[in-house]
Amino acid sequence: MVDKELVFKALDESLVVISTEVANILLSYRQISDSSLESAGVLIGERRGAHIVLKDLSEPSRWDIRSRFMVDRVSLHHQKAVDDAFKKSDGEWQYLGEWHTHPEDVPKPSMMDCTSWHKSLKSELPLILIIVGRTHFWVGRKIKDNIEVLKLV
Ligand SMILES: [Zn+2]
Repeated sequence: MVDKELVFKALDESLVVISTEVANILLSYRQISDSSLESAGVLIGERRGAHIVLKDLSEPSRWDIRSRFMVDRVSLHHQKAVDDAFKKSDGEWQYLGEWHTHPEDVPKPSMMDCTSWHKSLKSELPLILIIVGRTHFWVGRKIKDNIEVLKLV
């Protein structure tokens, strides 16, 4: 558990802030035991100029196909979470990227992660990618075809 927001910084000094609430929900999905499954969802929040504040997320549901090393998001509830947040916030909160877990302490994107991010995430605006490891978060920012790893401040 964390008691304050987590701040990550890009080389151009822009920030990605993970709210305390979002950070703690992500931490709750860490693959601590050998039997825990890989989880995934979408990230939701606000763009403030060059900065991004993550305020909400979608969580795995029983409709997702989950296994330890693979997550296949088949459920529409992830899209619904984005739509609900957009309405609730008068259009302020929007889809900002994706998160998933890895069964390793310090996570790194797999080849499959990179391939699928480049293939399926198309956006002119920056998107945030988070991998939740057992002891660390990996946070990346995708701008067009380039993914930059951000540093914890
Ligand atoms: Zn992965």
